[in-house]
Amino acid sequence: MIIPIRCFSCGKLIAHVYQPYLDLLEKGESSEIAFEKLGIDRFCCKRMIVAHVDLIDDLLKFPRLQ
Ligand SMILES: [Zn+2]
Repeated sequence: MIIPIRCFSCGKLIAHVYQPYLDLLEKGESSEIAFEKLGIDRFCCKRMIVAHVDLIDDLLKFPRLQ
């Protein structure tokens, strides 16, 4: 839904890296080089970003469930 602020496993702040990561991928960088540029080195943090599905914009279209 919303990218978690911290990595669930190690606690490193990762939320601020998500949008720059997507921007780098948009420019054609590989995922590994994007992580290197953004300072994400542990695979627990990488899985947080790679496995994230950004659904918040899709869910906001619907009214609140009662
Ligand atoms: Zn981590």
